Amino acid sequence: MRTIKLKKDPLKLLNDVLKHLKASPDLGIFKCVQCGMCSSVCPAAKRTDYDPREMLRRVLQDDETVVEDESIWYCFSCYTCNSVCPSGNNACEVNQILRQMAIDKGDIQKIESFTPYGDSFINKGVGSIPDKYYDDMVKDAGSNCMDIKRDIQNIRSDLGLGSYILPDDSIKEIDSILKNSGFIGRIEMVKRCNK
Ligand code: SF4
Ligand code: SF4
Repeated sequence: MRTIKLKKDPLKLLNDVLKHLKASPDLGIFKCVQCGMCSSVCPAAKRTDYDPREMLRRVLQDDETVVEDESIWYCFSCYTCNSVCPSGNNACEVNQILRQMAIDKGDIQKIESFTPYGDSFINKGVGSIPDKYYDDMVKDAGSNCMDIKRDIQNIRSDLGLGSYILPDDSIKEIDSILKNSGFIGRIEMVKRCNK
């Protein structure tokens, strides 16, 4: 006779995700029907072994090893999965929560590559693609992708938008928020951990 051991709390990981500070109140993970629409449109799933449907299955089945799985770091937060999910679920958000759990467990070196985005907020007051990634973008998407970058002010003007370069006063104000909220300290801490 085979004995099946039941877990004390078979929904622990799922509940931890839902209770997480980052979780939206309408995160529809319980409604995931495992249809795979998210995976079928996910650009990361096309190029890597990351699979949002599989990630969600592991959360629903309380497989805590998903937090340590290297593949969760291949999502690049495009939210395409969210736009097609028939249940209104957000695999991208679940992914971000799992990453935060991995960081809380000490996997801090994984976020080093994100620190240049933080520097952009600190130096310019807005998020933008860091210069150090331009060469990779051209390699992956061709040199045309830089045309938008070069012509950004004209494109914004055609769309009736102002400059994305903030005035100095606004940058100073944002700097103060980033300092007082601990954001700058956290970015520096991540950089130190990777030296
Ligand atoms: S998250 Fe949505 S799209 Fe993805 S498997 Fe679940 S129900 Fe389907
Ligand atoms: S946000 Fe992540 S999981 Fe969703 S489609 Fe984009 S790369 Fe895939």
